[in-house]
Amino acid sequence: MAWLKAVKEQTLSVSFQEFQLDPTILSGVKAVGYTTPTPIQQQAIPSIMEGKDVLGLAQTGTGKTAAFALPILHNLVRNPGSRKIRVLIVSPTRELAEQIHQACIGFAKDTRIKSIAIYGGVSKLPQFKGLRRCPEIVVACPGRLLDLVGDKAIDLSGLEVLVLDEADTMCDMGFLPDVRRILNLVPSSRQTLLFSATMPEDIRKLTKNILKDPVTVQVDTIAPAKTVSHALYPVPDALKRGLLLAILEQTPTGRTLVFTRTKHRTKRLALDLLNHKYRVASLQGNLSQNRRQQSMDGFRDGKFDILVATDIASHGIDVPEVSHVINFDMPDTADAYTHRIGRTGRALQTGEAFTLAVPEDRPMVRVVERVLNAKIERRRLPGFNYGNFNPEAQFPQDRPMQPQRDGVQPGSNNGTRRPAGPGQATRRAAPAPARRSSAGAPTSAGGGRPNFGQRPTGGYRRPA
Ligand code: AMP
Repeated sequence: MAWLKAVKEQTLSVSFQEFQLDPTILSGVKAVGYTTPTPIQQQAIPSIMEGKDVLGLAQTGTGKTAAFALPILHNLVRNPGSRKIRVLIVSPTRELAEQIHQACIGFAKDTRIKSIAIYGGVSKLPQFKGLRRCPEIVVACPGRLLDLVGDKAIDLSGLEVLVLDEADTMCDMGFLPDVRRILNLVPSSRQTLLFSATMPEDIRKLTKNILKDPVTVQVDTIAPAKTVSHALYPVPDALKRGLLLAILEQTPTGRTLVFTRTKHRTKRLALDLLNHKYRVASLQGNLSQNRRQQSMDGFRDGKFDILVATDIASHGIDVPEVSHVINFDMPDTADAYTHRIGRTGRALQTGEAFTLAVPEDRPMVRVVERVLNAKIERRRLPGFNYGNFNPEAQFPQDRPMQPQRDGVQPGSNNGTRRPAGPGQATRRAAPAPARRSSAGAPTSAGGGRPNFGQRPTGGYRRPA
């Protein structure tokens, strides 16, 4: 695990002080509890401070928000400017926009810099009001931003820095035309930062057009975080629900995210889990912004142990200590797999990714394995009645499947090893599935921040 090793080796020598950030920003960093910059932060912060354009190839969970927010804030503090909007950060989803906005507020707490989040699905009035306070930073989703430009509530003529975050997701969600419209509204003499987990052709073209002599910063290869181990559970569609329940029953898990293909399947599965007394919430596009926020806050605060979500709704989920991501349905693309898995193993924690795969998923499994550059370990869940279905016959690989032994949880790396390679299961002794007390959120050092290199604490089960 080159990433983790690199950070451990540099822990002694690299700290946020070395960037010579303004003391007001450094105190914000201290207040949010960061001590060691992540690799993307180490690479990106100096170039952004110098005013260079940056292409950041980094997935969610690498610390990319601070990688661009800290140097931007530093430059704003050091170079006081007009009362116009000076920084625009464009994000594909409301959740991500809110998360970036909150991060900016945290880092800027000892400055006079103001930030506002702009997204649809909520009333425009508070946003009009907020804009009248002349915030230097606007974090916005493309649709509502253009809406407010049409209302003449936003003037981007004084913009100094444009950030396009999760550019590949914006492309997936059909926002590229909106992004192009936004590009026509901002001055051409500006600093541009573009972050993307993957580089589809459309984004490659966009970067060529809008970045001037960019510095490319990349964290590892474009693949799911290596702090995550992966396992495949072959199963026919009709048995998926039963298998998921059995997996949850047998596996000591912390916070768990379950992904399905459609809003309807998300809703139904969440209800099923609720009927089995799990503390579960759902996150899908049919929910109001309020309900989405409740689901996410409840998941973050430990009120819910399981969040069932669709891909689109999941963007921007920022919850420390997600121990398991379970693909109830195989994602449609390798990029979606990367994004889903980016919710666990964040900022150097370790996590496990389980995929329930039907025989038709075979081509996608091959694509994902190519991205991972490793075979995903196949598993048969011991004691589960597969009927006539033979899991071993579905996704053949060089070596036989590893049965999950009682008392041993296969496939987990402890933060110091690579994920299981071809046919190889990494093993650790598993704690007995623990029951969560009613007070119940798993504890975390550093005020809810991830513990560098440590496994999420404790397991949970249904409430007693
Ligand atoms: P991001 O990739 O920006 O979504 O960040 C992922 C998670 O890592 C967030 O919960 C951040 O608060 C956390 N994080 C980012 N940078 C650091 C750091 N240097 N030290 C500790 N946690 C961090």
